Amino acid sequence: MDFKLSEEQQALKQEFEDFFKREMENAPLDYQNRSPLEAMYGSDEGWEFHKSMKKKLAEKGWLTMAWPKEYGGREAPVIEQLIFSEVQSYYRAPGLDGFGVKMFAPTLMLYATDEQKERLLPPIAKGEVQYCQGWSEPNAGSDLASLKTVAIKEGDHYVINGQKVWTTAAHRADHIFLLARTNPSQKRSSGLSVFNIEMNTPGIEVRPIEYMNGVHIYNEIYFTDVKVPVEERIGPENEGWKLTRATMNFERSGVGSFAEARRSFEELLKYVQTTKRDGKALIENQIVRQKLAKLYIGIETGRALAYKTAWLQEKGSLTFSAAAASEGKVFGTELRQQVANFATEIMGLYGQVEHSKWAHLNGVMIDGYQMSPGSNIAAGSSEIQRNIIAWVGCGLPRFN
Ligand SMILES: Cc1cc2nc3c(=O)[nH]c(=O)nc-3n(C[C@H](O)[C@H](O)[C@H](O)COP(=O)(O)OP(=O)(O)OC[C@H]3O[C@@H](n4cnc5c(N)ncnc54)[C@H](O)[C@@H]3O)c2cc1C
Repeated sequence: MDFKLSEEQQALKQEFEDFFKREMENAPLDYQNRSPLEAMYGSDEGWEFHKSMKKKLAEKGWLTMAWPKEYGGREAPVIEQLIFSEVQSYYRAPGLDGFGVKMFAPTLMLYATDEQKERLLPPIAKGEVQYCQGWSEPNAGSDLASLKTVAIKEGDHYVINGQKVWTTAAHRADHIFLLARTNPSQKRSSGLSVFNIEMNTPGIEVRPIEYMNGVHIYNEIYFTDVKVPVEERIGPENEGWKLTRATMNFERSGVGSFAEARRSFEELLKYVQTTKRDGKALIENQIVRQKLAKLYIGIETGRALAYKTAWLQEKGSLTFSAAAASEGKVFGTELRQQVANFATEIMGLYGQVEHSKWAHLNGVMIDGYQMSPGSNIAAGSSEIQRNIIAWVGCGLPRFN
């Protein structure tokens, strides 16, 4: 068994490292003391930096590395995509519209008409558009199939009414991929369809949900008699659940969480080596050393898990990769939380301070502390991931 990257992969990794290191030297301050998600969508300056980085990544062909050649990609192995995500996350770099590039575009490749592919894929590949994901509703999150937003066909268009919630980046997005009920007489996963909708369509209202740290990343969206041409429905009518399940399964190695955790961990290591408490270096404290070692084990284990997931995906082993992807999701997001929690704990009261000369490590740890509970819920909560692991990984019977 050889865990080393090949020479070509190593060279590619170096190319990504050199690029992101150089580019992030010019990043706005937000990118030094906030999570990338907040920096990207939470401030105008961060948003502009994200857009300019997106153009650069598109020009290099890095947004579409894993795409099939017929859509302008180069069919790069999953492992190369993984190396890219790992380096990008480590540098807390923006530039990737995960909703468009990683979720909606692969769904379009599988289910869209030729006309839709020709119209919708190139702007995503060129980094010209931003998507958001319109799935969750006030009473439909983990139980997504109970959603109530309706899209009723009237001649050559659908009329959409309903509400979505927690929609990340809706206030920045040009398009939304929406899951709505096209046949209200059918229940749960039957009678749903997927739509591509421009966010400036009349009848769409976006309202901010301020996160606990006051940053605006998430939103509610209200749809009131929104008219959407029939050509914007993706895939067959009433078969949206099949498309949505496919969308859920793209790109799920979870490597980004482990790379972000490693970056924070390295910053924390430097911190404990240079900080004294009660006249003694923190690094001499046995409890600190034990906890750091425990986190280090998590980071190394998580990285191996992410690479294993990518390897399973490469081999097309969808059944096991589903369990592995859930393992990576729950382990990665909870690990990031453990790093942030421990960091703020050993900083004492300074660990509560952000955006001030008194903030330690630029306040990046308190930011991680506040962001991590949301990450444990978004894209399927930890409990839901553990359910999937129980069913698919352990082979236990499934209960609804
Ligand atoms: C930061 C953040 C960003 C988000 N971004 C988006 C977005 O861009 N687009 C979008 O569509 N949605 C988004 N979401 C919504 C997200 O997908 C849902 O919040 C998530 O699926 C949980 O649904 P819920 O909030 O309705 O909680 P519920 O489903 O009501 O769950 C409440 C609690 O019950 C537990 N629970 C529920 N069912 C089970 C079960 N069967 N077994 C065990 N425990 C269970 C859950 O784990 C949770 O702890 C985001 C959420 C967050 C927090």
